Amino acid sequence: MTKYLQKCSSCKRYGLANPNSKCRYCKGQLVNPRPPKFSLMDKYGKYRLIYFKEEFEKKFN
Ligand SMILES: [Zn+2]
Repeated sequence: MTKYLQKCSSCKRYGLANPNSKCRYCKGQLVNPRPPKFSLMDKYGKYRLIYFKEEFEKKFN
């Protein structure tokens, strides 16, 4: 379940995501190591937007 792996912002160690997002070594804040802008959902959302724009133009032209 690597998608639940998060990185500690204090000691830079990796840990599993938990409800408190606390590092089990130093109690620091766990953060997602990958920025959300690289997610696949964003890519598909962009294509969906283009599709809806084309459909919109067909209806009103
Ligand atoms: Zn830590």
